[in-house]
Amino acid sequence: MYKYCLECDWQFDTAGDHTEAEISKRAIEHFVETGHTVDSLRLPPPVVRRN
Ligand SMILES: [Zn+2]
Repeated sequence: MYKYCLECDWQFDTAGDHTEAEISKRAIEHFVETGHTVDSLRLPPPVVRRN
């Protein structure tokens, strides 16, 4: 599970210590606090190239 904001750099994934339930809760909190749209993916986040 990977959740990210379409409007800022907010993001969370289950690679850390967080469960899906916790991430869902965080996403709702982010939406409530900012009004931003949070989208989610079942796939892991894309690999970031470090050049
Ligand atoms: Zn945001």
